[in-house]
Amino acid sequence: MLLPNKMPLSKEQLLSFVCNIIDQSNSCIAIIDQQDSNLPILYYNESFSELTGYINNELIGKNLRSLRGIKTDPEIESEIDLNIKSQLPVEINIIHYHKDGSPFWNYLYSLPIKDETNEVQFTLICCKNITDQMLDKMLSKLEREVYAELDKGGDTEVILQLIAQKIEMYYIRSVYCAIRVLDSTGELKVVATGSLPSTLIESINAYIIEPTAGFNEKAVYIDNVSHKQIELNNNIYNDISSLEVISCWTKPIVNQHHHILGSITIYLKDQASLKQSDLEFLNKLSPIITLSLKYAEQKQELERLAFYDMNTGIPNQNYFYTNLTEWIEGDFTGIILIIQPGEYSGIVDLYGRKTGDELLIQIANRLKNHQKVECNEDIIYGRFSNSSIITAKKIYDDKIDLYVSRLRQELTTSPYVLADREMFISLNIGIAHFGNGVLMEESIRQADIALTSSRKKFGTVITFFEEETNKLMQQEMDTLNQLIHGLKNNEFSAFLQPKVNLKTAEIEGFEALARWHSPVLGSVSPATFIPIAEYSGKIREIDNAILKQVLKWQQARKEKGLKLVPVSVNISPVHFYHDTFVDDFISLVHQYHISPEYIKVEVTENFELVDFEKAKNILMRLKEYGYESSIDDFGVGFSSLSYLQQLPFSEIKIDQSFISNMNNDEMFAVVQTIIQLASRLKMHAVAEGIETVDQYNLLKNIGCNTGQGYYFHKPMPINEAEKLLNNIK
Ligand code: C2E
Ligand code: MG
Ligand code: MG
Repeated sequence: MLLPNKMPLSKEQLLSFVCNIIDQSNSCIAIIDQQDSNLPILYYNESFSELTGYINNELIGKNLRSLRGIKTDPEIESEIDLNIKSQLPVEINIIHYHKDGSPFWNYLYSLPIKDETNEVQFTLICCKNITDQMLDKMLSKLEREVYAELDKGGDTEVILQLIAQKIEMYYIRSVYCAIRVLDSTGELKVVATGSLPSTLIESINAYIIEPTAGFNEKAVYIDNVSHKQIELNNNIYNDISSLEVISCWTKPIVNQHHHILGSITIYLKDQASLKQSDLEFLNKLSPIITLSLKYAEQKQELERLAFYDMNTGIPNQNYFYTNLTEWIEGDFTGIILIIQPGEYSGIVDLYGRKTGDELLIQIANRLKNHQKVECNEDIIYGRFSNSSIITAKKIYDDKIDLYVSRLRQELTTSPYVLADREMFISLNIGIAHFGNGVLMEESIRQADIALTSSRKKFGTVITFFEEETNKLMQQEMDTLNQLIHGLKNNEFSAFLQPKVNLKTAEIEGFEALARWHSPVLGSVSPATFIPIAEYSGKIREIDNAILKQVLKWQQARKEKGLKLVPVSVNISPVHFYHDTFVDDFISLVHQYHISPEYIKVEVTENFELVDFEKAKNILMRLKEYGYESSIDDFGVGFSSLSYLQQLPFSEIKIDQSFISNMNNDEMFAVVQTIIQLASRLKMHAVAEGIETVDQYNLLKNIGCNTGQGYYFHKPMPINEAEKLLNNIK
């Protein structure tokens, strides 16, 4: 509206002139008397009346402060007054109230009107309801703030809290705000409130919303509940009287599938009921909350992925490391245990990976049970590798033994149910301390070392880490390094030890034994390098290198037309169970054109349940091809004769520990029984490690067919065995 700011009229003439003009304007305009220090309204047009709800002359003689309400900023009011009085232009946003008490954002600017003497007589106040724009502005500001928090990876509850606070602070109406989230039990739980404590909100809610009131995708709107407010005042909180909650409005927050995620409730303090603009505001607000909740869901899912093993649902290494690190940083001390089922790979071979996973799940469940029994949170666990679980417990040293024995009981006394059958599982467990200066990586390394040494024994074995073991491991690593070189440089040679017929003293055959002379380590005993080769997967190469040397020698003798005698080669169980063992073995012997009767297989194995059928299958195939097999070190560990009966072995080698203790009556009886049993099972009995003439005579007398030992011959290089055989001829 363009008005000349200097007009040649008296004050009265001027007023009537301006009134005339603003009556024709669509803008909302009031005329203020500049000369009166109260700045009273002299006139306002129809549009102004519509905007404020004050009709006719209701505001005449009053000033702009008549439009004030609870949320009107007094500082802005003073600024407006001051500017008008100082004849300065005003342009400002302020919350004003309609006559019905409902607020609106008023964009207000002033226009001073001067008279003929150039004195300002009136000020025109032009107003515009900009509530929608202001709310949109506030929403986009809030949205930006929420995005920024989400981007920072902020906690969802903190973000929701931020939303609730901002709404209370900036919303045009005087409100309390609460955000609820559906919890796992299907209840809406208050997670964020603005200025009120959540307990208070819960209680208001119990009174304001009927107990029967449910919620759905549509809003729940309960208006005018002031009668209930009285009950609150009297019964629940004294300070509730100051809350003056008149009505509340709940907007359910739903996801794209229309599933409820939570709700936002606005508790209104003023009398005026909700307007369309309020509803629109809350409708626009809900996507921001949905986003935050969806983000929370995604965050949870990400956490699940980051902290749990996908295949088993068991916490993973990351979970374990994160928690253990916190413990160690918090100066806690305790132990970590790496638990590995001895039968894991057998079970995976037989029943598949899923069953292997199932075994780990059941172990984890037992750990969880144990955690409950122990009634504390001081135990964490996670999947450590494909075949092992790691667990840690905060514990004082004097309690460790008891704890470990109870854990062992929990884990091993009852069978596991796998592939529809009950199985007793043996566990290898390595234990080490953490804390007290031992950091996590070191502690895990030590438990690993302890686990490795526990694997060297049969059955459930729990091994505590010791410095000694550490040194041993170091040595083993060095040996392994040299062993790898040694294999490349042909440092391994076959020695032969004669097997002697105890009745005739004739050489029936030989056993080939691996010897290793390393230029770095010197002579290394098979007792040292065989286990290392087994763990590192190098044993097949060693077995085959020895077998080749034997075959080469036999081939040479054959070509020379000399007599061949059977040679037994040792095959490690690791090699024996290898998928291609039988095929590789047979093709190698064929390459040298040696008849199967001259090569025997010696295998040392505790035929456990899981391997039994596989072992039988391998031995049967060897037998079909004409190869005989012997069971080595019989009597050590688990060697059930009833199993033996079902396996097609042709020879039993009685371990030298029995032979060397035969002067003990009991041991003598055992040896005698084994020999009798072998003969009943039509098996050849071979006594290992005969060192004395007494042992020789005893064994001969109780019907042992064959013997081997230093009493007859020590293992010797092939060329010496060659000479020995030739001399006999
Ligand atoms: P084994 O197969 O039971 O071999 C018999 C062990 O007893 C040999 O030890 C042999 O030297 C030793 N021995 C023979 N007679 C006597 C005696 O009268 N008194 C004493 N005290 N010892 C005697 P060695 O050569 O040290 O081998 C130890 C073990 O290493 C073998 O036990 C076998 O299980 C394994 N081994 C040796 N060579 C190979 C191989 O080429 N492959 C595999 N997989 N294992 C092998
Ligand atoms: Mg042997
Ligand atoms: Mg043996």
